[in-house]
Amino acid sequence: MLYHSTRGSAEELTAGAAILKGIAGDGGLYVPESFPDIGDMPRLYTMPYGSLAKEILRLFLTDYTEAELSEAIDQAYDAKFDTEAIAPLTERGGYYFLELFHGRTLAFKDMALSLLPRLLKIAARKQGIFGGITVLTATSGDTGKAALEGFAGAEGIDIVVFFPEDGVSEMQKRQMRTQDGANTHVIGVYGNFDDAQTGVKRIFAQGIPGVYLSSANSINIGRLLPQIVYYFCAYSQMIERYRLKPGDSVNFTVPTGNFGNILAGYYARRMGLPINKLICASNDNRVLYDFFQTKEYDKNRLFIPTVSPSMDILVSSNLERLLYHISGSALTNEYMEQLSKEGCYKFVGDAEGFAAEFAVQDECFEGIRELYEDSGYVIDTHTAVAFKAYQKYRDRTGDNTPNIILATASPFKFPESVCAAIDGKYAGMGAFESVRALSGLTGSGIPEQIASLEHKENRHTRVCTPADMRIALIEELPYTHSK
Ligand SMILES: *Cc1c(COP(=O)(O)O)cnc(C)c1O
Repeated sequence: MLYHSTRGSAEELTAGAAILKGIAGDGGLYVPESFPDIGDMPRLYTMPYGSLAKEILRLFLTDYTEAELSEAIDQAYDAKFDTEAIAPLTERGGYYFLELFHGRTLAFKDMALSLLPRLLKIAARKQGIFGGITVLTATSGDTGKAALEGFAGAEGIDIVVFFPEDGVSEMQKRQMRTQDGANTHVIGVYGNFDDAQTGVKRIFAQGIPGVYLSSANSINIGRLLPQIVYYFCAYSQMIERYRLKPGDSVNFTVPTGNFGNILAGYYARRMGLPINKLICASNDNRVLYDFFQTKEYDKNRLFIPTVSPSMDILVSSNLERLLYHISGSALTNEYMEQLSKEGCYKFVGDAEGFAAEFAVQDECFEGIRELYEDSGYVIDTHTAVAFKAYQKYRDRTGDNTPNIILATASPFKFPESVCAAIDGKYAGMGAFESVRALSGLTGSGIPEQIASLEHKENRHTRVCTPADMRIALIEELPYTHSK
Protein backbone atom coordinates (compact mmCIF):
# COMPACT_ATOMS: atom_id res chain seq x y z
CA MET A 1 0.00 0.00 0.00
CA LEU A 2 1.48 3.32 -1.05
CA TYR A 3 0.54 6.84 -0.01
CA HIS A 4 0.43 10.00 -2.05
CA SER A 5 -0.52 13.62 -1.59
CA THR A 6 -4.03 15.07 -1.90
CA ARG A 7 -2.51 17.83 -4.07
CA GLY A 8 -1.37 15.46 -6.81
CA SER A 9 2.45 15.57 -6.82
CA ALA A 10 4.08 12.38 -8.12
CA GLU A 11 5.62 11.52 -4.74
CA GLU A 12 4.70 7.99 -3.57
CA LEU A 13 5.67 6.75 -0.13
CA THR A 14 5.34 3.71 2.07
CA ALA A 15 3.17 4.09 5.16
CA GLY A 16 6.22 4.40 7.39
CA ALA A 17 7.73 7.17 5.28
CA ALA A 18 4.39 9.03 5.15
CA ILE A 19 4.01 8.79 8.93
CA LEU A 20 7.54 10.05 9.42
CA LYS A 21 7.09 13.04 7.09
CA GLY A 22 3.66 13.98 8.44
CA ILE A 23 2.77 16.42 5.65
CA ALA A 24 3.51 16.12 1.93
CA GLY A 25 6.10 18.23 0.16
CA ASP A 26 3.43 20.03 -1.90
CA GLY A 27 1.53 21.06 1.26
CA GLY A 28 -1.07 18.32 0.85
CA LEU A 29 -1.97 15.43 3.13
CA TYR A 30 -1.02 11.81 2.56
CA VAL A 31 -3.81 9.44 1.56
CA PRO A 32 -3.77 5.69 0.85
CA GLU A 33 -3.84 4.81 -2.86
CA SER A 34 -6.89 2.59 -2.29
CA PHE A 35 -9.23 1.33 0.41
CA PRO A 36 -8.64 -2.31 1.30
CA ASP A 37 -11.76 -4.45 1.64
CA ILE A 38 -12.20 -5.78 5.16
CA GLY A 39 -13.75 -8.93 3.72
CA ASP A 40 -15.87 -11.29 5.74
CA MET A 41 -17.03 -9.38 8.83
CA PRO A 42 -18.28 -12.06 11.28
CA ARG A 43 -14.76 -13.12 12.22
CA LEU A 44 -14.25 -9.60 13.62
CA TYR A 45 -17.23 -9.59 15.97
CA THR A 46 -15.63 -11.43 18.85
CA MET A 47 -12.10 -10.06 18.57
CA PRO A 48 -10.55 -8.13 21.43
CA TYR A 49 -9.54 -4.57 20.55
CA GLY A 50 -5.87 -5.33 19.92
CA SER A 51 -6.61 -8.19 17.52
CA LEU A 52 -9.11 -6.04 15.65
CA ALA A 53 -6.49 -3.29 15.37
CA LYS A 54 -3.98 -5.75 13.91
CA GLU A 55 -6.53 -7.09 11.45
CA ILE A 56 -7.35 -3.61 10.13
CA LEU A 57 -3.98 -1.88 10.31
CA ARG A 58 -2.03 -4.62 8.56
CA LEU A 59 -4.03 -3.78 5.44
CA PHE A 60 -2.74 -0.20 5.50
CA LEU A 61 0.71 -0.56 7.06
CA THR A 62 2.06 -3.11 4.62
CA ASP A 63 5.69 -2.04 5.06
CA TYR A 64 5.60 -2.98 8.76
CA THR A 65 6.26 -6.64 9.54
CA GLU A 66 3.57 -8.59 11.38
CA ALA A 67 5.91 -8.75 14.38
CA GLU A 68 6.54 -4.99 14.39
CA LEU A 69 2.87 -4.21 14.12
CA SER A 70 1.88 -6.77 16.68
CA GLU A 71 4.35 -5.50 19.27
CA ALA A 72 3.44 -1.84 18.67
CA ILE A 73 -0.29 -2.55 19.02
CA ASP A 74 0.13 -4.73 22.13
CA GLN A 75 2.15 -1.97 23.79
CA ALA A 76 -0.31 0.75 22.77
CA TYR A 77 -3.55 -0.84 23.96
CA ASP A 78 -2.55 -2.27 27.31
CA ALA A 79 -3.19 -1.43 30.96
CA LYS A 80 -2.69 2.29 30.22
CA PHE A 81 -6.40 2.05 29.43
CA ASP A 82 -8.59 1.65 32.48
CA THR A 83 -10.82 -0.95 30.82
CA GLU A 84 -9.98 -4.09 28.92
CA ALA A 85 -12.60 -3.24 26.31
CA ILE A 86 -10.45 -0.15 25.41
CA ALA A 87 -13.46 1.47 23.70
CA PRO A 88 -16.58 0.27 25.56
CA LEU A 89 -20.08 0.85 24.23
CA THR A 90 -22.56 2.12 26.81
CA GLU A 91 -26.32 2.34 26.50
CA ARG A 92 -27.84 5.13 28.62
CA GLY A 93 -31.14 6.96 28.45
CA GLY A 94 -31.98 5.10 25.23
CA TYR A 95 -28.80 6.24 23.44
CA TYR A 96 -25.59 4.42 22.56
CA PHE A 97 -22.28 6.01 23.48
CA LEU A 98 -18.91 4.71 22.37
CA GLU A 99 -16.59 5.78 25.18
CA LEU A 100 -13.27 6.74 23.67
CA PHE A 101 -11.83 8.35 26.79
CA HIS A 102 -10.43 5.47 28.79
CA GLY A 103 -6.79 6.17 27.92
CA ARG A 104 -4.13 8.06 29.81
CA THR A 105 -5.30 11.60 29.06
CA LEU A 106 -9.06 10.95 29.18
CA ALA A 107 -9.76 12.03 25.59
CA PHE A 108 -10.23 10.13 22.34
CA LYS A 109 -6.86 11.38 21.09
CA ASP A 110 -5.31 8.59 23.18
CA MET A 111 -6.80 6.04 20.79
CA ALA A 112 -4.38 7.07 18.05
CA LEU A 113 -1.62 8.73 20.03
CA SER A 114 -0.89 5.63 22.09
CA LEU A 115 0.14 3.96 18.85
CA LEU A 116 1.56 6.72 16.64
CA PRO A 117 4.86 7.19 18.54
CA ARG A 118 5.59 3.48 18.17
CA LEU A 119 4.82 3.51 14.45
CA LEU A 120 6.99 6.58 14.02
CA LYS A 121 9.92 5.09 15.88
CA ILE A 122 9.85 1.91 13.79
CA ALA A 123 9.65 4.01 10.60
CA ALA A 124 12.63 6.13 11.67
CA ARG A 125 14.70 3.05 12.42
CA LYS A 126 13.88 1.56 9.02
CA GLN A 127 14.91 4.77 7.28
CA GLY A 128 18.16 4.97 9.22
CA ILE A 129 17.18 8.15 11.07
CA PHE A 130 18.40 8.13 14.64
CA GLY A 131 17.87 11.23 16.75
CA GLY A 132 17.08 14.83 15.81
CA ILE A 133 13.41 14.13 15.16
CA THR A 134 11.02 16.82 16.36
CA VAL A 135 7.32 16.14 16.39
CA LEU A 136 5.41 19.41 16.01
CA THR A 137 1.85 19.71 17.14
CA ALA A 138 -0.80 22.40 17.27
CA THR A 139 -3.55 21.59 19.71
CA SER A 140 -7.00 22.78 20.58
CA GLY A 141 -6.41 21.09 23.93
CA ASP A 142 -6.63 17.33 23.89
CA THR A 143 -4.14 16.37 21.17
CA GLY A 144 -1.41 18.21 23.05
CA LYS A 145 -1.62 16.21 26.22
CA ALA A 146 -2.14 12.90 24.43
CA ALA A 147 0.87 13.56 22.20
CA LEU A 148 3.01 14.58 25.18
CA GLU A 149 2.11 11.38 27.03
CA GLY A 150 2.61 9.29 23.92
CA PHE A 151 6.06 10.65 23.15
CA ALA A 152 7.40 11.41 26.66
CA GLY A 153 10.69 9.60 27.12
CA ALA A 154 10.89 8.46 23.47
CA GLU A 155 14.56 8.28 22.62
CA GLY A 156 15.81 10.55 19.83
CA ILE A 157 12.45 12.34 19.51
CA ASP A 158 11.43 15.72 20.90
CA ILE A 159 7.72 16.52 21.16
CA VAL A 160 6.67 20.18 20.88
CA VAL A 161 3.10 21.31 21.50
CA PHE A 162 1.70 24.75 20.61
CA PHE A 163 -1.65 25.60 22.19
CA PRO A 164 -3.87 28.73 22.16
CA GLU A 165 -3.03 30.42 25.47
CA ASP A 166 -6.63 31.51 26.09
CA GLY A 167 -8.37 28.82 24.06
CA VAL A 168 -8.16 25.68 26.19
CA SER A 169 -9.82 24.65 29.43
CA GLU A 170 -8.07 25.16 32.76
CA MET A 171 -7.67 21.41 33.15
CA GLN A 172 -6.27 20.97 29.64
CA LYS A 173 -3.73 23.73 30.31
CA ARG A 174 -2.65 22.17 33.60
CA GLN A 175 -2.36 18.77 31.99
CA MET A 176 0.08 20.15 29.42
CA ARG A 177 2.05 22.61 31.55
CA THR A 178 2.84 20.00 34.18
CA GLN A 179 4.04 17.37 31.69
CA ASP A 180 7.11 15.39 32.75
CA GLY A 181 9.89 14.25 30.46
CA ALA A 182 13.08 15.99 29.28
CA ASN A 183 12.00 15.62 25.63
CA THR A 184 8.63 17.37 26.09
CA HIS A 185 8.04 21.03 25.21
CA VAL A 186 4.87 23.10 25.59
CA ILE A 187 4.47 26.62 24.20
CA GLY A 188 1.40 28.86 24.53
CA VAL A 189 0.41 31.01 21.55
CA TYR A 190 -1.38 34.36 21.79
CA GLY A 191 -4.07 33.46 19.27
CA ASN A 192 -6.67 30.78 18.56
CA PHE A 193 -6.23 27.20 17.35
CA ASP A 194 -6.26 28.20 13.69
CA ASP A 195 -3.37 30.62 14.35
CA ALA A 196 -1.41 27.85 16.04
CA GLN A 197 -2.18 25.34 13.26
CA THR A 198 -1.26 27.82 10.52
CA GLY A 199 1.97 28.64 12.37
CA VAL A 200 2.91 24.97 12.55
CA LYS A 201 2.21 24.48 8.84
CA ARG A 202 4.46 27.49 8.15
CA ILE A 203 7.31 26.00 10.19
CA PHE A 204 6.91 22.79 8.18
CA ALA A 205 7.13 24.71 4.92
CA GLN A 206 10.25 26.60 6.02
CA GLY A 207 11.94 23.74 7.84
CA ILE A 208 14.69 24.04 10.45
CA PRO A 209 18.24 23.10 9.45
CA GLY A 210 19.44 19.94 11.16
CA VAL A 211 16.00 19.02 12.46
CA TYR A 212 13.76 16.28 11.05
CA LEU A 213 10.21 17.59 11.50
CA SER A 214 7.19 15.34 11.88
CA SER A 215 3.65 15.86 13.08
CA ALA A 216 1.33 14.33 15.67
CA ASN A 217 -1.71 16.22 14.39
CA SER A 218 -4.43 14.45 12.51
CA ILE A 219 -2.84 15.71 9.30
CA ASN A 220 -0.53 12.74 9.95
CA ILE A 221 -1.99 9.63 8.33
CA GLY A 222 -0.63 7.66 11.30
CA ARG A 223 -3.18 9.47 13.47
CA LEU A 224 -6.07 8.69 11.21
CA LEU A 225 -5.63 4.97 10.54
CA PRO A 226 -5.75 3.75 14.18
CA GLN A 227 -9.08 5.57 14.55
CA ILE A 228 -10.73 3.33 11.95
CA VAL A 229 -10.52 0.47 14.42
CA TYR A 230 -13.06 1.71 16.95
CA TYR A 231 -15.79 2.12 14.34
CA PHE A 232 -15.54 -1.62 13.70
CA CYS A 233 -15.26 -2.25 17.43
CA ALA A 234 -18.50 -0.30 18.06
CA TYR A 235 -20.31 -2.28 15.40
CA SER A 236 -19.10 -5.56 16.88
CA GLN A 237 -20.37 -4.57 20.32
CA MET A 238 -23.80 -3.74 18.86
CA ILE A 239 -23.90 -7.22 17.31
CA GLU A 240 -22.70 -8.86 20.48
CA ARG A 241 -25.58 -7.29 22.40
CA TYR A 242 -28.16 -8.11 19.75
CA ARG A 243 -28.77 -4.43 19.04
CA LEU A 244 -27.89 -5.07 15.39
CA LYS A 245 -28.00 -8.09 13.14
CA PRO A 246 -24.92 -8.77 11.02
CA GLY A 247 -25.09 -6.55 7.95
CA ASP A 248 -27.53 -4.01 9.45
CA SER A 249 -26.75 -0.36 8.89
CA VAL A 250 -25.77 2.01 11.66
CA ASN A 251 -25.30 5.77 12.02
CA PHE A 252 -22.49 7.48 13.90
CA THR A 253 -22.71 10.98 15.32
CA VAL A 254 -19.29 12.53 15.75
CA PRO A 255 -18.41 15.72 17.64
CA THR A 256 -16.20 17.31 15.02
CA GLY A 257 -13.41 19.85 14.89
CA ASN A 258 -10.53 19.06 12.59
CA PHE A 259 -12.57 16.35 10.82
CA GLY A 260 -10.13 13.57 11.74
CA ASN A 261 -12.40 11.40 13.84
CA ILE A 262 -15.31 11.41 11.40
CA LEU A 263 -13.00 10.87 8.43
CA ALA A 264 -11.82 7.63 10.04
CA GLY A 265 -15.50 6.61 9.98
CA TYR A 266 -15.58 7.37 6.26
CA TYR A 267 -12.51 5.15 5.80
CA ALA A 268 -14.27 2.39 7.75
CA ARG A 269 -17.26 2.67 5.42
CA ARG A 270 -15.03 2.54 2.34
CA MET A 271 -13.57 -0.69 3.77
CA GLY A 272 -17.01 -2.24 4.01
CA LEU A 273 -18.50 -1.33 7.40
CA PRO A 274 -22.25 -0.81 6.81
CA ILE A 275 -22.53 2.81 7.89
CA ASN A 276 -25.65 4.62 6.72
CA LYS A 277 -24.94 8.20 7.80
CA LEU A 278 -21.95 9.87 9.38
CA ILE A 279 -23.48 12.78 11.24
CA CYS A 280 -21.07 15.64 11.65
CA ALA A 281 -21.82 17.60 14.84
CA SER A 282 -20.53 21.17 15.17
CA ASN A 283 -20.69 23.60 18.05
CA ASP A 284 -21.27 27.37 17.62
CA ASN A 285 -18.36 27.40 15.14
CA ARG A 286 -20.55 25.73 12.54
CA VAL A 287 -18.37 25.99 9.44
CA LEU A 288 -18.80 22.29 8.69
CA TYR A 289 -22.55 22.33 9.26
CA ASP A 290 -22.85 25.20 6.78
CA PHE A 291 -20.55 23.38 4.37
CA PHE A 292 -22.68 20.25 4.33
CA GLN A 293 -25.87 22.31 3.98
CA THR A 294 -24.71 24.72 1.27
CA LYS A 295 -21.50 23.16 -0.19
CA GLU A 296 -19.84 26.50 0.55
CA TYR A 297 -16.85 26.35 2.89
CA ASP A 298 -16.37 29.78 4.40
CA LYS A 299 -13.98 30.46 7.25
CA ASN A 300 -14.56 34.22 7.04
CA ARG A 301 -16.60 34.53 10.19
CA LEU A 302 -16.27 35.34 13.83
CA PHE A 303 -14.37 32.72 15.85
CA ILE A 304 -16.47 31.82 18.88
CA PRO A 305 -14.66 30.40 21.93
CA THR A 306 -16.93 27.81 23.56
CA VAL A 307 -16.97 25.27 26.39
CA SER A 308 -16.14 22.57 23.81
CA PRO A 309 -12.75 24.04 22.86
CA SER A 310 -11.54 20.98 20.95
CA MET A 311 -14.21 21.78 18.36
CA ASP A 312 -13.44 25.51 18.14
CA ILE A 313 -11.95 25.30 14.68
CA LEU A 314 -12.65 27.22 11.49
CA VAL A 315 -10.20 25.40 9.21
CA SER A 316 -10.83 21.66 9.44
CA SER A 317 -7.68 20.19 7.93
CA ASN A 318 -8.91 16.69 7.27
CA LEU A 319 -11.79 17.84 5.11
CA GLU A 320 -9.11 18.13 2.42
CA ARG A 321 -8.81 14.34 2.42
CA LEU A 322 -12.55 13.91 1.89
CA LEU A 323 -12.51 16.43 -0.97
CA TYR A 324 -9.69 14.45 -2.52
CA HIS A 325 -11.43 11.09 -2.18
CA ILE A 326 -14.58 12.51 -3.78
CA SER A 327 -13.13 14.84 -6.41
CA GLY A 328 -9.45 14.03 -6.99
CA SER A 329 -6.35 16.17 -6.70
CA ALA A 330 -6.96 18.79 -9.41
CA LEU A 331 -10.11 20.14 -7.80
CA THR A 332 -8.69 19.72 -4.29
CA ASN A 333 -5.79 21.92 -5.30
CA GLU A 334 -8.19 24.59 -6.51
CA TYR A 335 -10.27 24.44 -3.34
CA MET A 336 -7.22 24.70 -1.10
CA GLU A 337 -5.81 27.58 -3.09
CA GLN A 338 -9.11 29.46 -2.84
CA LEU A 339 -9.26 28.69 0.87
CA SER A 340 -5.81 30.10 1.43
CA LYS A 341 -6.40 33.19 -0.76
CA GLU A 342 -10.05 34.05 -0.08
CA GLY A 343 -10.91 31.92 2.93
CA CYS A 344 -13.72 30.17 1.07
CA TYR A 345 -14.60 27.85 -1.80
CA LYS A 346 -17.64 26.26 -3.38
CA PHE A 347 -17.58 22.47 -3.50
CA VAL A 348 -19.07 21.00 -6.70
CA GLY A 349 -18.98 17.32 -5.67
CA ASP A 350 -21.41 15.24 -3.62
CA ALA A 351 -20.61 14.37 -0.01
CA GLU A 352 -22.87 11.34 -0.02
CA GLY A 353 -23.42 9.53 3.26
CA PHE A 354 -22.77 12.57 5.42
CA ALA A 355 -25.27 14.60 7.38
CA ALA A 356 -24.65 17.59 9.63
CA GLU A 357 -26.16 19.33 12.62
CA PHE A 358 -24.95 21.78 15.22
CA ALA A 359 -25.70 22.56 18.84
CA VAL A 360 -24.94 25.92 20.41
CA GLN A 361 -23.66 26.30 23.95
CA ASP A 362 -27.07 26.49 25.65
CA GLU A 363 -28.17 23.33 23.86
CA CYS A 364 -24.98 21.60 24.92
CA PHE A 365 -25.64 22.50 28.59
CA GLU A 366 -29.24 21.39 28.20
CA GLY A 367 -28.07 18.05 26.81
CA ILE A 368 -25.77 17.40 29.76
CA ARG A 369 -28.53 18.22 32.26
CA GLU A 370 -31.23 16.29 30.43
CA LEU A 371 -29.21 13.10 30.11
CA TYR A 372 -28.05 13.30 33.72
CA GLU A 373 -31.61 13.77 34.99
CA ASP A 374 -32.97 10.95 32.81
CA SER A 375 -30.27 8.39 33.33
CA GLY A 376 -27.61 9.56 35.80
CA TYR A 377 -25.05 9.43 32.98
CA VAL A 378 -22.71 12.43 32.80
CA ILE A 379 -21.20 13.40 29.45
CA ASP A 380 -18.58 16.01 28.66
CA THR A 381 -19.24 19.20 26.69
CA HIS A 382 -18.06 17.78 23.34
CA THR A 383 -20.09 14.61 23.62
CA ALA A 384 -23.04 16.81 24.59
CA VAL A 385 -22.78 18.74 21.32
CA ALA A 386 -23.05 15.42 19.46
CA PHE A 387 -25.90 14.28 21.70
CA LYS A 388 -28.01 17.37 20.96
CA ALA A 389 -27.00 17.41 17.31
CA TYR A 390 -28.14 13.80 16.96
CA GLN A 391 -31.53 14.56 18.54
CA LYS A 392 -31.99 17.48 16.15
CA TYR A 393 -30.97 15.32 13.19
CA ARG A 394 -33.39 12.56 14.15
CA ASP A 395 -36.27 14.98 14.71
CA ARG A 396 -35.59 16.75 11.42
CA THR A 397 -35.18 13.66 9.25
CA GLY A 398 -37.10 10.89 11.02
CA ASP A 399 -34.09 8.64 10.39
CA ASN A 400 -34.44 5.81 12.92
CA THR A 401 -31.30 3.89 12.00
CA PRO A 402 -29.57 2.81 15.22
CA ASN A 403 -27.10 5.53 16.11
CA ILE A 404 -23.86 5.56 18.06
CA ILE A 405 -22.62 8.80 19.59
CA LEU A 406 -18.87 9.01 19.90
CA ALA A 407 -18.08 10.11 23.46
CA THR A 408 -14.77 11.88 22.99
CA ALA A 409 -13.75 13.06 26.46
CA SER A 410 -14.29 12.29 30.11
CA PRO A 411 -16.46 14.88 31.89
CA PHE A 412 -13.60 15.22 34.39
CA LYS A 413 -11.64 17.13 31.75
CA PHE A 414 -14.25 19.90 31.67
CA PRO A 415 -15.56 19.81 35.24
CA GLU A 416 -16.56 23.49 35.64
CA SER A 417 -18.83 23.48 32.57
CA VAL A 418 -20.27 20.05 33.20
CA CYS A 419 -21.17 20.80 36.85
CA ALA A 420 -22.63 24.20 36.00
CA ALA A 421 -24.73 22.59 33.26
CA ILE A 422 -26.20 20.08 35.69
CA ASP A 423 -27.01 22.62 38.36
CA GLY A 424 -26.55 26.40 38.37
CA LYS A 425 -25.44 26.26 42.00
CA TYR A 426 -22.06 24.94 40.85
CA ALA A 427 -21.41 27.90 38.55
CA GLY A 428 -18.26 29.88 39.34
CA MET A 429 -16.53 27.08 41.21
CA GLY A 430 -12.84 26.45 40.58
CA ALA A 431 -11.55 23.54 38.53
CA PHE A 432 -10.65 21.17 41.37
CA GLU A 433 -13.65 22.08 43.49
CA SER A 434 -15.76 21.16 40.45
CA VAL A 435 -13.87 17.90 40.08
CA ARG A 436 -14.89 16.94 43.61
CA ALA A 437 -18.49 17.97 42.98
CA LEU A 438 -18.49 15.93 39.77
CA SER A 439 -17.21 12.91 41.62
CA GLY A 440 -20.22 13.25 43.91
CA LEU A 441 -22.63 13.61 40.99
CA THR A 442 -21.29 10.63 39.06
CA GLY A 443 -20.67 8.50 42.12
CA SER A 444 -17.29 7.59 40.66
CA GLY A 445 -13.84 8.30 42.00
CA ILE A 446 -11.70 11.13 40.64
CA PRO A 447 -9.45 9.78 37.89
CA GLU A 448 -5.85 9.58 39.08
CA GLN A 449 -4.65 11.61 36.08
CA ILE A 450 -6.81 14.54 37.23
CA ALA A 451 -6.31 14.21 40.99
CA SER A 452 -2.53 14.30 40.63
CA LEU A 453 -2.62 17.61 38.72
CA GLU A 454 -3.76 19.69 41.64
CA HIS A 455 -0.36 19.91 43.27
CA LYS A 456 1.93 19.44 40.30
CA GLU A 457 4.34 22.17 39.29
CA ASN A 458 3.99 23.97 35.94
CA ARG A 459 7.19 23.01 34.13
CA HIS A 460 6.39 24.73 30.84
CA THR A 461 5.73 28.47 30.88
CA ARG A 462 6.84 29.79 27.48
CA VAL A 463 4.30 31.86 25.48
CA CYS A 464 4.80 33.51 22.07
CA THR A 465 2.94 35.35 19.30
CA PRO A 466 1.87 33.43 16.17
CA ALA A 467 4.58 35.23 14.19
CA ASP A 468 7.30 34.10 16.61
CA MET A 469 6.47 30.42 16.79
CA ARG A 470 9.48 29.30 14.77
CA ILE A 471 11.87 31.37 16.88
CA ALA A 472 10.30 30.11 20.09
CA LEU A 473 10.72 26.56 18.83
CA ILE A 474 14.39 27.05 18.00
CA GLU A 475 14.99 28.52 21.46
CA GLU A 476 13.13 25.66 23.06
CA LEU A 477 14.87 22.75 21.37
CA PRO A 478 18.00 21.73 23.26
CA TYR A 479 20.02 20.86 20.18
CA THR A 480 19.23 23.98 18.15
CA HIS A 481 19.73 26.71 20.74
CA SER A 482 22.93 25.24 22.13
CA LYS A 483 24.60 25.73 18.72
C1 LIG B 1 -10.18 16.53 19.14
C2 LIG B 1 -11.51 16.43 19.78
C3 LIG B 1 -12.68 16.53 19.02
C4 LIG B 1 -12.66 16.79 17.53
O1 LIG B 1 -12.11 15.73 16.79
P1 LIG B 1 -11.58 15.98 15.31
O2 LIG B 1 -10.92 14.72 14.92
O3 LIG B 1 -10.62 17.13 15.40
O4 LIG B 1 -12.75 16.33 14.47
C5 LIG B 1 -13.89 16.36 19.67
N1 LIG B 1 -13.95 16.16 21.00
C6 LIG B 1 -12.85 16.07 21.76
C7 LIG B 1 -12.99 15.87 23.23
C8 LIG B 1 -11.59 16.19 21.18
O5 LIG B 1 -10.49 16.10 21.94
